[in-house]
Amino acid sequence: MALRRILICGEPELRKKSRKIKNIDGTLIELLDDMVETMLDAPGVGLAAPQVGENLRAVVLAEYEEGEEPRVHECINPRIVETEGEVEGGEGCLSLPTLHGVVLRPERVVVEAFDREGEPIQMEAHGLMARAFCHEIDHLNGKLFIDRALPDSIAWMIPDEDDERGYHLHYISKADAEDTLRRMVEKRLAEAERDG
Ligand code: ZN
Repeated sequence: MALRRILICGEPELRKKSRKIKNIDGTLIELLDDMVETMLDAPGVGLAAPQVGENLRAVVLAEYEEGEEPRVHECINPRIVETEGEVEGGEGCLSLPTLHGVVLRPERVVVEAFDREGEPIQMEAHGLMARAFCHEIDHLNGKLFIDRALPDSIAWMIPDEDDERGYHLHYISKADAEDTLRRMVEKRLAEAERDG
């Protein structure tokens, strides 16, 4: 297992539609293992394959419960087959570091997918996990949460000791957020090139 580099908004792979997985081989199992490790290391609630540069329809999610090992879900070719309700909630993404936005998502979803043994699985999720499934499956279609965020809800989370949340929000436009992230990508790529 190995940590993979998480792509940042501005890198083209994040905007591509991912391919359906046709067979489960050693390379895919390795990718799933690496995605889980990368997600738990971040730590994040979910990670989609395009976020590590693989345009394949696979996502991993984690449910964190205090004092317990995270419960990991691996989903191959996931699809949402049922939704119910609609709720507003805050979202972030490992590919848009420190960015926050409010997105309307279903309160409940039913997801069908395959596990790493190729067995069909069905999962029902509510609240935060329903939101996470929608967010991760969006990644497989090249969609990011800022595309869906309510107008005027996009903001940087600025660390702030005086705020009880540990941060305050600095509101910006979607275009400004994408600009800043693009510059972050360019800087990172230039550094990588320089370091050879
Ligand atoms: Zn994301």
